[in-house]
Amino acid sequence: MADTLLDPKNPSGPVVIGKLKVHVDRDLCIGAATCIAVAPKTFILDSEAKAIVLQSAQEETSETIIESAKACPVAAIIITDETGKQIFPE
Ligand code: SF4
Repeated sequence: MADTLLDPKNPSGPVVIGKLKVHVDRDLCIGAATCIAVAPKTFILDSEAKAIVLQSAQEETSETIIESAKACPVAAIIITDETGKQIFPE
């Protein structure tokens, strides 16, 4: 499974996906899996029920990834743009 992760050393990020930098705050993540429903190519739950980022995230659109962050009930997905400006949470 490790080789399907975008960055096996940083399963929950921060990882660069297109123009976005994505990071799941593992302390906040409650494994609700809403992000997976919205962005199934990007997220999967690990054995601790924390969201981790798949290699196939590269095929997901930025819009979908931002939508998944907005859908997270605990705002555990933090997204910045290429300049480091935080896009979400706003
Ligand atoms: S939606 Fe949020 S809490 Fe649920 S698995 Fe994804 S990051 Fe974790």
